[in-house]
Amino acid sequence: MSDENGVLLDKLRGLVGKPAGPPFSAWDAVNQPMIRHWCDAVGDTNPIYTDPSAAASSAHGQIVAPPTMLQAWTMKGLVPPTPEGGGAQEELMGLLDSAGFTSVVATNCEQEYARYLHLGDELTAEQVIEDVSPEKHTALGDGHFVTTKTTFSDQHGDVVGSMTFRILKFRPAPASTSSSKAAARRPRPAINRDNAFFWEGIDRGELLIQRCASCGRLRHPPGPMCPSCRSLDWDTVVSTGRGVVYSFVVPHHPQVPAFEYPYVVALVELDEGTRLVSNVVGVEPAEVYVGMPVAAEFVAVDDELTLPQFRPAAAGNGA
Ligand SMILES: [Zn+2]
Repeated sequence: MSDENGVLLDKLRGLVGKPAGPPFSAWDAVNQPMIRHWCDAVGDTNPIYTDPSAAASSAHGQIVAPPTMLQAWTMKGLVPPTPEGGGAQEELMGLLDSAGFTSVVATNCEQEYARYLHLGDELTAEQVIEDVSPEKHTALGDGHFVTTKTTFSDQHGDVVGSMTFRILKFRPAPASTSSSKAAARRPRPAINRDNAFFWEGIDRGELLIQRCASCGRLRHPPGPMCPSCRSLDWDTVVSTGRGVVYSFVVPHHPQVPAFEYPYVVALVELDEGTRLVSNVVGVEPAEVYVGMPVAAEFVAVDDELTLPQFRPAAAGNGA
């Protein structure tokens, strides 16, 4: 580590343990409309969240909020309130920005729940800088991992849960030139024993879908257990590769060197019924639409990696 890096790290580490900013009290008490919209958005039909009579006869005796909504109650909105109060978070980000670590990406989030939240609970969030890593070399660029811990308390001051959130503040790779683009490679898929079959299929030019060997249900992404019948037995079917764009986004920031912008990240619904995240290529992003018929092709994006990607296709069942 150079002296300059050491001085920066000492300054960054000096902020560990300090409040990231002033405590933030929730705009609204825990309430049924927000819970209802959340459950609708994520498809959670558990009646203890939305049906008063079912909740009353449950172990909870009343409506409870989904634990994973914890952070939703104290979201500060798209435009955070000003002034923020100049907490350690602002100072820390300023130090990292001035040192050239101007880009940010979230990397981990862990939540712990001390109790279920009830309608009317009023939450306050307090955030502390928990850790700053030494400079690390990552695929996105060199940077520091910054960990904050948020503690959520109720109207009595009792802790109801906490969240550890980690970001990477990194120095973006130089602007794309033909040489840096040639060197930059797409992130590698995380291949494990559950999904290895999928990538082995791709290498053979087959788009495989996992199928429960007991009840026949298809599932993707791959996993060890059937969500319908809990069987651990499975085989695969080869997809026709035909489907439609179920949803899509066109990412603009942060720019990652391996990608040419703009490009399309799509959730493709295959004719077989499962969906997968991929790219739609061979078409201007502005021309992509939800419901667009697409067909898979296997694209060698570099010497080692082949990816299934999708191109616009004629509608219907024709080849
Ligand atoms: Zn099954």
